[in-house]
Amino acid sequence: MYPVINYLCQITNQTNTIPGEGFMKNYKRHLVTAALPYANGPVHIGHLAGVYIPADIYSRYLRLRDKDIIFVCGSDEHGVPITIKARQEGVPPQQIVNHYHELNKKSFEQFGISFDIYHRTSHPTHHKTASEFFRKLYDKGDFVEKSTEQYFDEEAGQFLADRYITGICPHCSYESAYGDQCENCGTSLSPTDLIKPKSTISGGKPILKKTKHWYLPLDQYESFLKKWILQENKHWKVNVYGQCKSWLDGGLEPRAVTRDLDWGIPVPVDDAEGKVLYVWFDAPIGYISATKDLTKKWEDYWKDKKTCMVHFIGKDNIVFHCIIFPAMLKAEGTYILPANVPANEFLNLENDKISTSRNWAVWLHEYLEEFKDKQDVLRYVLCANAPETKDNDFTWKDFQVRNNNELVAILGNFVHRSLVLTHKYCEGKVPGLENPDPYDQNVLQEMKSIRKSVEENLDQFRFRLALKETMNLARLGNKYLADTEPWKLVKTDPEKVRNILYVSLQITAGLSTLIQPFLPASGSKLVEFLKIEPVKWSDIGTKELLMPGHEIAQPELLFEKIEDHTIQKQLDKLSSIKQLNESIASGLEVPKEGISYEEFNKLDIRIAEVLSAEKVPKTNKLIKLSLDTGLDKRTVVSGIAEFFKPEDLVGKQVCLLANLEPRKIKGIESHGMVLLAENPSGELVFVTPDNVIAKGSVVK
Ligand SMILES: [Zn+2]
Repeated sequence: MYPVINYLCQITNQTNTIPGEGFMKNYKRHLVTAALPYANGPVHIGHLAGVYIPADIYSRYLRLRDKDIIFVCGSDEHGVPITIKARQEGVPPQQIVNHYHELNKKSFEQFGISFDIYHRTSHPTHHKTASEFFRKLYDKGDFVEKSTEQYFDEEAGQFLADRYITGICPHCSYESAYGDQCENCGTSLSPTDLIKPKSTISGGKPILKKTKHWYLPLDQYESFLKKWILQENKHWKVNVYGQCKSWLDGGLEPRAVTRDLDWGIPVPVDDAEGKVLYVWFDAPIGYISATKDLTKKWEDYWKDKKTCMVHFIGKDNIVFHCIIFPAMLKAEGTYILPANVPANEFLNLENDKISTSRNWAVWLHEYLEEFKDKQDVLRYVLCANAPETKDNDFTWKDFQVRNNNELVAILGNFVHRSLVLTHKYCEGKVPGLENPDPYDQNVLQEMKSIRKSVEENLDQFRFRLALKETMNLARLGNKYLADTEPWKLVKTDPEKVRNILYVSLQITAGLSTLIQPFLPASGSKLVEFLKIEPVKWSDIGTKELLMPGHEIAQPELLFEKIEDHTIQKQLDKLSSIKQLNESIASGLEVPKEGISYEEFNKLDIRIAEVLSAEKVPKTNKLIKLSLDTGLDKRTVVSGIAEFFKPEDLVGKQVCLLANLEPRKIKGIESHGMVLLAENPSGELVFVTPDNVIAKGSVVK
């Protein structure tokens, strides 16, 4: 519907500057939202790098600046991806969302993502909030009611919304585009846009059937959106602004905000049975619901123009947060609009697109188990290499190099040397500063300008640069120690050594707060090593942070080297996933979910002998077998006639699943199933014992 054209070329004249500090001062409070992850799977590094790490850094930073700020998120528990997962696993959708809500909530907590609330859209508060929101727009006559023909799966007896339908993208020809979006080119689609549509439930070709829905007439909001984004928000990130511009230039069309589904928030009007709110209508309202359950003063954060609202999202969500949600908020009339939507591009893994279905990802909950207490290492690597302006690649080698050469060799090394030398030369106490030379003074002053530079970058959502500047403080400290060489001076000039350690410890104290937004666990460790109260952000570079005479703790290592074998283990894991994916791509069946021994033990598989065999009349595939199971004689109908002649089967020993419930096939009662192996091209061979064995022998 809306082509995503190469927008970068359209905006070369744009000056991309944000009013920084001054701009922030105009706001009384801050509302930071992070995209609600779907509760149909775990969170991976792509989500973290794109959304949760920058959102967390920004929120922690605002708290350190003493701003009034809340940081909200939660599970998105509606929509077709949830029902598809539930269908695959044969459990109710609620069970799926309960499982992943808890898993992701815990992973985020352990990872140090500091949400003030992690809500969920199946919560009653949210159902009420979203219903009322819809109802208000409905009552004001903001929706267009339309009956249209939609795809319907006759076999499954249901309409095929969003991800229940796939087909070829009309824009980029990607073969597995969904009914609502092409994940390859990012274009938003309607099911009827797809070429060669296919139901993801039955795999069959759907028919068209009439159904009624409510549409948000986005076309009526076009001039408002154009003015608001293209004129008033030129400072937004180039990738975000560009995508919005291409949408707006392409012209907006009414968009259905309801669906024919049995999972979601019921459409709160008469005559809407079997219909729920479109997940992208209800999900962003989830930010409001979360705020409501967090604070009684929720309206201050949502309705006062002095609130600065920032949405952190991935690039696939830009249209929903910059076009559709603002149009909804505008229609409702009492809400503020986001001040910024600093969306990121995508992160790849080892040069391949991260994919849940192909299991090509580093999953947060697995990382937390395999790299215990190394949350900050992943936070560091994902921020240092964040896909801020273009898609980027995560590699395990880079992870190791950044840990060993930056966290260990720069930050860890500087801190450790400062603390160890203080114990060695100053009895573990902060020395006084006497007659400092210009180098000492310069280094102390440099702290302030580094903090200012970190602020400037964070105010403009440049997280990579902000982290680099933060590390520059540790670099400065390292260089200072290397230049002044206190270990050489200790015999000849002890006063100078005390000055050097005084300066080094002040830097260490500054680092304990400056690294806090990026590496919160390490910041807290530094506070412990120094035995201090957390340093105030604004004191960095403006005040003495550690008083002479203050005693520090015995130092420990802040980071440890990551060895080759640890990295190799991860690479081996990925290479076996790749191998499995290639086998599946070549036609092998996808491995099934794990089962318990008890479940396996329920299968009664036995050796049986074929007594007689004959083709079932008027069929091509079926053979009726008479079997001696050692326990009884029985009839089994088997779909093997294309591959075997009945007369060749007599006397053969086969494996029989004996306790499968009997069923009628072409009028013949078949009691059990003969086991065969099938190759990717559909050829069948019998599974038979290696040697002749007694009839009735159990296979286990
Ligand atoms: Zn496409």
